[in-house]
Amino acid sequence: MSESDHSPEPAAARAELDRCDDAGLIRPAPPSTRTADRERLDVWGFADSAFRINANDAVEMTGDRYSLAGVELPDLLPWMNRVLGAQLDRRVVNRSQYPPAIPEPRRNPAFASELQKFLCDDAICDDPRIRLRHGHGHSQEEMYCIKYARPVRLPDVVVYPSQPEHVESLVGAALRHGVCLIPYGGGTNVTHALMCPADEERMIVSVDMSRMNRILWIDPYNRMACIEAGAVGREIVEQLAESGFTMGHEPDSIEFSTLGGWIATHASGMKKNRYGNIEDLVLDITAVTAEGELSRSSVAPRESVGIDHRRWLYGSGGNLGIVTSAIVKIFPTPEVQRYESVIFRTFEDGFAFLYDLTRHSVPPASVRLVDNLQFQFSMALKPASMGPRALKRKLEKLYITRVRGFDPAEMVACTLVFEGSREEVEAQQSALFRIARKHGGLKAGSENGKRGYELTFAIAYIRDFVMEYYLLAESFETSVVWSEVLVLCANVKRRVREEHAARGLPGEPFISCRITQVYSAGVCIYFYFAYYYRGVENPSAVFAEVERAARDEVLRCGGSLSHHHGIGKLRQEFLPEVMSDAMLEWNRRIKKAVDPHNVFGSSNQGVGGPTPD
Ligand SMILES: Cc1cc2nc3c(=O)[nH]c(=O)nc-3n(C[C@H](O)[C@H](O)[C@H](O)COP(=O)(O)OP(=O)(O)OC[C@H]3O[C@@H](n4cnc5c(N)ncnc54)[C@H](O)[C@@H]3O)c2cc1C
Repeated sequence: MSESDHSPEPAAARAELDRCDDAGLIRPAPPSTRTADRERLDVWGFADSAFRINANDAVEMTGDRYSLAGVELPDLLPWMNRVLGAQLDRRVVNRSQYPPAIPEPRRNPAFASELQKFLCDDAICDDPRIRLRHGHGHSQEEMYCIKYARPVRLPDVVVYPSQPEHVESLVGAALRHGVCLIPYGGGTNVTHALMCPADEERMIVSVDMSRMNRILWIDPYNRMACIEAGAVGREIVEQLAESGFTMGHEPDSIEFSTLGGWIATHASGMKKNRYGNIEDLVLDITAVTAEGELSRSSVAPRESVGIDHRRWLYGSGGNLGIVTSAIVKIFPTPEVQRYESVIFRTFEDGFAFLYDLTRHSVPPASVRLVDNLQFQFSMALKPASMGPRALKRKLEKLYITRVRGFDPAEMVACTLVFEGSREEVEAQQSALFRIARKHGGLKAGSENGKRGYELTFAIAYIRDFVMEYYLLAESFETSVVWSEVLVLCANVKRRVREEHAARGLPGEPFISCRITQVYSAGVCIYFYFAYYYRGVENPSAVFAEVERAARDEVLRCGGSLSHHHGIGKLRQEFLPEVMSDAMLEWNRRIKKAVDPHNVFGSSNQGVGGPTPD
């Protein structure tokens, strides 16, 4: 059984109390900057990690950061070629043209000279590649654009405030000199939220929050922490763990996304069943707006004090102001963390299990159900095994298929993470396996469960890797009530296949889904779409057309426009379908009232824009 026991030693707990100051707070040192953690500017991830095809025509991952690294994955290319009807081959490459031609920056000399009064030289940057990186997130279209096309408009300068006063001065200067500000967290959004409006005439300033990355204090007694908005997820995890706590918010982008970005996109983490989504975790937010700072004198566990400013800021996409810090709930590091996995004969069986789980038990911290195609994909990502390991794998396969009668072309898998006290986890596990058995589920082991979650982080690198081999891929998510889940999944898959066929695109589309979050009323579903684009004109735009059709199908089937990625600019065309005219008008008027000069001009969610009404 794969289990970690984190229970703190009593002496360690006493040491923690000793670290508190007179106000009962721990004040951690700023996070250290590790050179090893350098990020690539042209693709997802750390500079030391990437996929490549080696001389044996097997895929391998460089570095030693992920469990997939350093081993050959001999089945991956043959499997992809078979499923996609493609010819992914190391000799047939669409070489990246990064960096693209970068437009000259627009200048605003009066603003620039005011900047120098409160920011040091090293906090102001107009390096073309840094400007380029600050003008995009990680959507398929954006990543294709920086490698094979030409961005039309980019931030003209990037600034790095390191204290709230810098942010206030920036907003004041932007108001006085007619400049547009776009806050930047980790640049991981997938909704075109950082894409600069092409017709923005003003100077665009990207406000990079990475120097406001401190945990200002931890209150161990009341279980709260005040964290600056530019703090990156992985550093929040590490620093809180040093004091025996966790925030429990773990989006799959946790290595790079920030607290401010989570708030501005209304994010969701994989362990939300135990800890909640971002809106359940945040007790208070401080933000700088065109009207001044939004802040409060104190924070309480729950309040009813009129309109809640937090609600305006969740999902605001940098349109209303800059979040500078937030007070969040924290939890003791769980005594026990266990991974598990269960396989089911069909997606419908797995779905019925999830439904029952929410009705008759407490779902574990995380539970994910992948469909058959994704199950096959995870098998194709297994390294070659030899000797006793290969024999064990063969015997397991024989048992599952021959003895238990599971069909490899139908079966699906559920991966699970349990967190809590030992008793809690044991009770959850036994209730869960009882329900799983009722639906024909078979325990598939903790190793497979752990692998499933570890793969999440490595898989994020695959999209940029395959783009150079003529494969475009993207995921998109929705949420929907239980009664519509199966119909929605089937219809979206059918629609993508139809759209692919109608355009005469090469090979077969890869279209697959997984359920990643469960609620009492329904679930969050991720779809993964990929297609082989060799010989296709404007392949990225064609991809976007198919994705748009898929989204149309999601809405027709009762799904939401987004469960957690948000609207940005990518989905705003659908807003009139999901909101009444009065609601759209409300959004426009709120924006106009709190930011009349459209200082925060990223133009997300269909509000603002270069010429506000
Ligand atoms: C591989 C991958 C996995 C992902 N997994 C998840 C997941 O599991 N759950 C999930 O919810 N999302 C996920 N995402 C999407 C993305 O990580 C989230 O939307 C995340 O919250 C964005 O945070 P960020 O710091 O990168 O923000 P950015 O991309 O920098 O910015 C996003 C938006 O927020 C605004 N913003 C940023 N910081 C501030 C601030 N301080 N004040 C005001 N506005 C600000 C920006 O202007 C922009 O409009 C994933 C993305 C990728 C590429």
